[in-house]
Order: sequence, then structure tokens, then C-alpha cells
Amino acid sequence: MKLHEYQSKRIFAQYGVPIPRGEVATTPAEARDIAVRLGTRVVVKAQVLVGGRGKAGGVVLANTPDEAEQAADRILKTPLKGLPVRKVLVDEAVDIQNEVYLGLTLDRARRRVVMMASSAGGVDIEDVARETPEKIMRAEIDPFLGLRDYQARTLAFGIGLQRGLVCSFTSIAQALYQAYISSDASLAEINPLVVTEDDELLAVDGKMLIDDNALFRHPDLAELRDPEDETPEEREARLHGLSYVKLDGEIGCLVNGAGLAMATMDLTKLYGSSPANFLDIGGGAQADKVTAALRIILSDPHVKAVLVNIFGGITRCDEVARGILEAINSLGGISVPMVVRLVGTNEEQGRQILADAHVITAGSLPEAAQKAVAAAHGEVLA
Ligand code: GDP
Ligand code: MN
Repeated sequence: MKLHEYQSKRIFAQYGVPIPRGEVATTPAEARDIAVRLGTRVVVKAQVLVGGRGKAGGVVLANTPDEAEQAADRILKTPLKGLPVRKVLVDEAVDIQNEVYLGLTLDRARRRVVMMASSAGGVDIEDVARETPEKIMRAEIDPFLGLRDYQARTLAFGIGLQRGLVCSFTSIAQALYQAYISSDASLAEINPLVVTEDDELLAVDGKMLIDDNALFRHPDLAELRDPEDETPEEREARLHGLSYVKLDGEIGCLVNGAGLAMATMDLTKLYGSSPANFLDIGGGAQADKVTAALRIILSDPHVKAVLVNIFGGITRCDEVARGILEAINSLGGISVPMVVRLVGTNEEQGRQILADAHVITAGSLPEAAQKAVAAAHGEVLA
């Protein structure tokens, strides 16, 4: 789950990262009031879940409350990279001497959280990583020891920070690490971390990604979700406890188990088509979950056939079969062919129930995938 800049910075601040004073506005008049309250030059910033807002006109300096109002008016009226802007952050403007980058993410290959710092802050860090990777310093963090001060100091010296700021850089690095770990984040980034004209460090921009699978233990963070962050289908899937990722193929896949879902998707490709989605309905196969899954899959107009692949371990296949029929009935029938592969406890009964209802079944996964691809390509199956 992505967090907005203002949300990320508030979390950072709770752990001790210095951020500019500022408030969020939803109307130009509110932006004006905030600018009056701050009593300084301000920067008005679009709160949308994309990067590069500065270059796209979503970050505007305003010298007076009137200017802040006008800037907010313009920003709130103009979609940014296709996304509507519903909120602006009005922050006290900072006089910038230098911009650096500081971020934390998980390096899956190294199985460590890594802290990254770069003197090339402010610009797209992805470009820096691609074109001049030597400008990014890295520190791998031992999960038991946590971030060591010497690691943060090494980064500070590595990016050429002046000596007088190393201490404060280290405490910001520690605060960011605490924010990252405590929030179960997968990314926490300050870009830019600025050196102000008064020789102080300040987090001017913030970005956080929270691991969706950890949100159950962070109800306060879960509440911060912006509906724009997901499609209606992804939302419905989440509310039903389904893992769903939309893709651009034509075979809708309904599977229990993530590994099995991946294998199923691979087979649609092997036989000449491609998956319209990843969907794992999880353990069991209750009718309400199957119904929601089918509804989500069928809402995609590109889906030409549905491939159901259920491995009934503890779940009994006859129950699953009834669940599938119930789902089809509650949707008032389905408009594309469906091929079901059911294996496990009571598979014979399960297949019989489906066959009696004229659902196409298959005994093996390759057979099911071939049939689904054939059906998607217009072949009429017996
Ligand atoms: P992003 O483009 O979405 O990453 O948005 P940022 O918040 O990082 O802002 C982009 C750029 O705007 C920064 O790198 C700064 O150069 C500039 N900027 C942001 N806030 C201020 C500010 O308070 N004062 C000044 N002078 N520049 C700012
Ligand atoms: Mn930025």
C-alpha cells in the first residue's frame, strides 16, 4: 500500500525525523488559511500517489497567501499524470543548499534491509541507480543488530556530507529505520533530504510503501489507504480475502494456492494464450469467495474463458463443485466458457456434480489448460 507524502512524513516525524511545518488542504481557501497561519513563504504540493510531481507541475512555491491560494486552485483542478488531485500539502518553504537521498528497502536477494544514500538527491533516484550506480552508497542491515551508527556515518561520509551534519544525519537514519521496521514498510524514502541555508537537515519529501500482508497488525495505517491506490476489482478482492492481480491476457484463472496459481498461469502460455489475472482464493473454497472471484474475473471484458484449478486437500471436491455452481447461479449464469479441474478428496463426486450442470471438466491440469485455451479461441468443447 502506498502512502501519500504528508502521511509518510507524519510517520517519519513521529520517530524523530525533522520535517517542515505544514498542513493539508482540500480547497484553495484552506491552502490560503494555512499559508497565513504558517506566516512564511510556502510550497504547495499535490498529494497524488506518483513520483516526479515537481517536474509535472505539482510542486509550486508561493510567496504570499494569495499565491498559495492560486497555486492550490491550479493544482487541485489539474490531473497529475492522469490522477485527480484531491489534496495539497502546504508546507513552510525551505531555502535549500543541497539535496541528498536517503532510503530503506528490502533487498530480497541479500535477504537484508538496505539503507541507501546518495549525493544525487532530488532527481529520480531510479535514473541515478541505472546510469550512475556508483553514486548510491549502500549499507546492509543485520536484522538482529539493527542499523549501527557506524553504518550511517559511513553513508554520510560516502555522500560527502559536511562533518557538522553527520551526527544529525545518523539520528535521522536511525529514526527512518525505526519508522520502516515499526510500520512493516517495504520502502521508506526521503528524497530530497535537504541541507538548509541554516545548515540543518530537513526531510522535504517522503514516501512509504507498507507491506499489505502486515496491515492486519497496523489498523491505524490500514485506515490511511487511498481508494485511488487500487482498482474497484482489487478492492473487492481484498475485502474478500482474495489475492488478485490483474494482467492483460484472456484466460481468467481461479485457483487455490499461490504456487498453483503461478503454474496455472504458465500453462495458459504454454498452450498459446495468456492469463488475464493472478487469483488465489486461499484455503478452502467457500461459495462466497468463489462467487466474488468469478465476479471479479468476469468484470474484465478481455476474459474469453475461465480456468478453475482447485486442489482439494482438506477441502472436499464435492463441496467445491457445489460452491462453483452456487457462484454461477448467483451471477445469473456466465457468458464465457469455463473449464474446471478438480483434484483431491471426493474428486469423482465433484466432477459428476459439475458434469451434470454442463460445466466442462478436466482430469489433469495440462488438459484443463488446453481446453481453456481452445475455448477462448472459439472452439466448441464437448
Ligand atoms: P517530487 O517531484 O514528487 O519528488 O516532489 P518533491 O517534494 O521531492 O519536490 C520536488 C523538488 O521541488 C525538490 O527536489 C526541490 O528541489 C523542490 N522543492 C520542494 N520543496 C521545496 C522548498 O520548500 N523550497 C525549495 N526551494 N524547493 C523545494
Ligand atoms: Mn521527491
